[in-house]
Formats: sequence, C-alpha cells, structure tokens
Amino acid sequence: MRLKTVREIIFLGARHARPGPLGAVPAGTRTSDSTFSFLACSSSQWSCAFCHKCALTLILFCALWVLPALAQPPANSAKSLQIYFIDVEGGQATLFVTPEGQSLLIDTGWPGNNNRDADRIVAAAHDVGIDKIDFALITHYHDDHVGGAPQLAARIPIGTFIDHGENRETSDAITQKDWLAYKQLLATGKYKRIIAKPGDSLPIKGIRVEVISSDGVLIEKALPGAGQPNPACASSVPPPADKTENPRSLGTLITFGRLKTLDLGDLTADKEHELMCPLNKIGTVDIYIASHHGFNQSGSAVLVHAVAPRVAIVDNGAKKGGSPSALDIIKSSPNLTALWQLHFSEQAGLAHNTALEFIANSSGPDAANYLKLTANPDGAFSVFNSRTKQSQNYRAAH
Ligand SMILES: [Zn+2]
Repeated sequence: MRLKTVREIIFLGARHARPGPLGAVPAGTRTSDSTFSFLACSSSQWSCAFCHKCALTLILFCALWVLPALAQPPANSAKSLQIYFIDVEGGQATLFVTPEGQSLLIDTGWPGNNNRDADRIVAAAHDVGIDKIDFALITHYHDDHVGGAPQLAARIPIGTFIDHGENRETSDAITQKDWLAYKQLLATGKYKRIIAKPGDSLPIKGIRVEVISSDGVLIEKALPGAGQPNPACASSVPPPADKTENPRSLGTLITFGRLKTLDLGDLTADKEHELMCPLNKIGTVDIYIASHHGFNQSGSAVLVHAVAPRVAIVDNGAKKGGSPSALDIIKSSPNLTALWQLHFSEQAGLAHNTALEFIANSSGPDAANYLKLTANPDGAFSVFNSRTKQSQNYRAAH
C-alpha cells in the first residue's frame, strides 16, 4: 500500500510537473513515458518477498532523487524574462513579463471579433500569473495594433499607455476611428501616458527599453557598441517615403541581462534605410520580432542582415504578412539559428515558410496557439510552441 502510494505520487508529480528548465517543456523531455516506465513494477513484483528489498531501494531512490527533482522549480525561473507572442491573427500583441512581475504589452491586436484579442491577451497574462498590464505600448494607430485597446482596458487594469503622439494618418477612416477611441480611453483619466521620443529609456523595471523610432524620427547616434559600417547598404536603394502610420511606429530595443530583442512595430523599409545606412546604429540583437508581420514593405536586408538575429519571430496571420521575400531575407541572415512564425503563411507556401515545428498555427480552424520565449539573464533562452508543446533551447551567445 505504501509502495503504491509512492508510485502514485511519482505519476501525480509527473502529470503536474512544471515546465522544464526555462519555463517550457524542452524537446525530448516529456516525463510520462520512458523516464518512469522502469519504476512501474507490476503488482506481482510488489507482492514477492524479494521485491521488499527492491521496494525499499525504490523508496530511497524516490526520496533522494525523483521527488526532489519533480518538486524543483524550473532552473532560474525566478530570474527569467517571459515573452508571449499572442496570436491576434496578423496583428500584434507581445507581452513581456519581467522576473519582478512587471509587464509590458506591445500592442493590443484588433477590435471587434467578440473581444477575441483582448481575451487572448488576458489569458496570456493569467497564464504567467499577472492580473494587471503595467505598460501598454502602442506602436502606431493602425487597426491591428491599437484597435483592441478599449476592449482590453475593459477586461484588465492597465497602468500606463506609451505611444508616439498624435495620429498622422487622419485621411484613413479606420485609423482615425481607432485613434479617437484610444484618445477617449486616455481622456478617462484612469491611465498615465508617456509620449516616447527616440533616445528615451522607458521606466520599466527589470528590462532596459530604449526607444529607437517614434513618430517618424529615429535615433541620431549609434547605440553604445554599434555604429559599424553596414555592408548591405551598398546594394540597397532607399525606397520612397511611406506616408502611412507605419513609418511612425514606436520601435524599441529591449535588453534583459545579455539578451537583446528588437521590435520596430511596422516600421517601413524607407526608415530602415535611414536608420541602418551607412552605419548600423543598432548593432546586433538576439531576437528580431519581424517588422510589419513579415510584410515585404519592411524587413529589408539592410536591417535584418545587419542586426543579425539568432532567432526571428514573425507575428503573421495565415493571409497577412509572411511575404515570401521577407521570409527569405530572414532565413538568409548571417547568424540566424531559427525562424518562428505564428501562422503558416498561405502566400509563402512550403518553399518559403519555416519548418512546421516552428509554426504555432499550421492550418485548419483557429486554434489561437502562441509562442512563448523564456530568457535567462545570461542570454540563454527557449521558445515554446503551444501547438506542439515542444520547446527549443538556445544557449547564451558568446
Ligand atoms: Zn500591423
């Protein structure tokens, strides 16, 4: 009876074991099968006299090794930064949660859809154990970025909104409507507001958030350690100026320990050229959140190949973003280890999409699968795919 109880505890522990070392179950470390199969003796074994000795050894083994291992929290979990790439069907909603529990949400997804995107953001917040968004950064005033703000604000407390200032695309009716709804939200007086300028550092504890671009203005000087000539400029012709809200995007470089993550919203290629030529003002990064959902109006080689990410994550939809040429530029980037996507891009087909295991939503009905990145301060991180329940681990860069 006692032995059976121990055995039950083992399997209970396996079922309830928290995700692996970086907060997500690493590939190949599923616990329910091979790890425990050799411990699962048959009842006839338990009843034999010989097995009493085996059983005592087993209890000792369990007490000294298995149970403590199951009980241990994920290594460094208290020191990890967690980033959720929430599926808002081709919009953006990226949630950063620091080890201290401070949260930064970059964009709020779409309006409408029966609160779909707000509900998904709140679900991610609850998954990571927070019940408030400390900072909600609005990159620009397009429908897929700010549209979800009123619905989200109705569902979860928000501390401070951060944006680039006035809407500059008043000629577009949807953009203007979203801007007015956002302004109405600010006018309630419930929220603090920061209008960010290039070169600013945002007041978020546990991560350094440097503003690279805002309202069409870019940092003038290279960041410390950056400023090298960018060889990709030689073969690049500056594209014509984009007149929409996209080049106004509030773009940030987010540093956690040794890990650098770049998010430039929907910044367009004209601004990329201005930012990266002739000198690379950003330097290299670890994670590139693909600009503009992987549309080919953004994510040119002058940006992507110069910042040379180790991992790129594209928040595309099935039919939005994920242009073949933009995906190809990412894949040919010099330091790239992996390309992840929120959706299989129908336009890109098998030839240009990343491998299926790196895609959160492959095909079929809307499943709202997300990607979650968990990073340690030394720069090691993992990416968890909620569809496959598998993680890939990445070592700290040297
Ligand atoms: Zn967008």
